[in-house]
Amino acid sequence: KLYNQVQDLKGNIRVYCRIRPFMPGKPNHLSTVEDLDERTITILTSSKYGKEGRKSFTFNKVFGPSASQEEVFSDTQPLIRSVLDGYNVCIFAYGQTGSGKTHTMTGPSELTKESVGVNFRALSDLFLISDQRKDSIAYDVSVQMIEIYNEQVRDLLVMDGGLNRRLEIRNNTQNGVNVPDANLVPVTSTSDVINLMNLGQKNRAVGSTAMNVRSSRSHSCLTVHVQGRYVTSGTVVRGCMHLVDLAGSERVDKSEAVGDRLKEAQHINKSLSALGDVISSLAQKQSHVPYRNSKLTQLLQDSLGGQAKTLMFVHISPEPDTLGETISTLKFAERVS
Ligand code: ADP
Ligand code: MG
Repeated sequence: KLYNQVQDLKGNIRVYCRIRPFMPGKPNHLSTVEDLDERTITILTSSKYGKEGRKSFTFNKVFGPSASQEEVFSDTQPLIRSVLDGYNVCIFAYGQTGSGKTHTMTGPSELTKESVGVNFRALSDLFLISDQRKDSIAYDVSVQMIEIYNEQVRDLLVMDGGLNRRLEIRNNTQNGVNVPDANLVPVTSTSDVINLMNLGQKNRAVGSTAMNVRSSRSHSCLTVHVQGRYVTSGTVVRGCMHLVDLAGSERVDKSEAVGDRLKEAQHINKSLSALGDVISSLAQKQSHVPYRNSKLTQLLQDSLGGQAKTLMFVHISPEPDTLGETISTLKFAERVS
């Protein structure tokens, strides 16, 4: 109820900010976050200049370092119902490498019931609600998981060998935007999805010497397709949810990056700014929305704008040495909200 009121006021785009705690062993009295409340954070840009050295940013919601995975998800939950009602939904994790994107979406490397992230919670909610509705609506759920790396789309749900095939994004009137050659796997339980996500994570590491490097240089997108058929009327509703762990937003020093590293950085830069352009033109209700400028925005075209609902988690780190990136992340957030 409250969510819908907020939606009416704000349109279909919401931006949440999450601040990760200090890493164990780091002193915690040096945070760049001077103050935070439910909706606003104040960043200490320089301790030298008093009031001049502070800047505040406002969001639909702010989650401080002690916010639990459960708290973060509770504000995401209404979107799951929307998917089952036939809406398209995108949930993004944005931020520099190490700021907590994967933590929010998937969780830490050792997963427990308490520590699992948005992906698992969203899927288990989806199965729970569809089960509650089963007398009136029969739902079919299937998932795809793809990666966009250097503006090339690859299927992450492949057994060995298929990963290097580049896939095309198609857009036709019958099916909307889709990646027809990516595996679309029917699922009936959360554990089915967990197995597929593990396969996807494993494939994400292939072709890279250091797993973290590849995963921070590519966007991964878990797409959940839902089709519901009303038992009595036969009417069909379709919705889908994209859960996107974006590539790290940090800028790469052009004087240092060469070769592959530079190419990666340019592709990431291009696709994150294309995403920012699309969301900010939607937020400002502009008539032209520049979807064509990156693979990511092409892929998500019919899930961004229109009736679709978007949730962007922007992540920041508290350490002073990340201040430059923190400010640029917050400026990105300001642009899209
Ligand atoms: P990213 O995906 O943005 O590169 P990670 O999610 O891998 O960042 O987070 C970096 C490290 O910080 C990981 O060890 C992760 O478990 C930890 N971390 C991130 N966010 C939180 C949080 N909210 N609470 C506890 N640990 C966190
Ligand atoms: Mg990550």
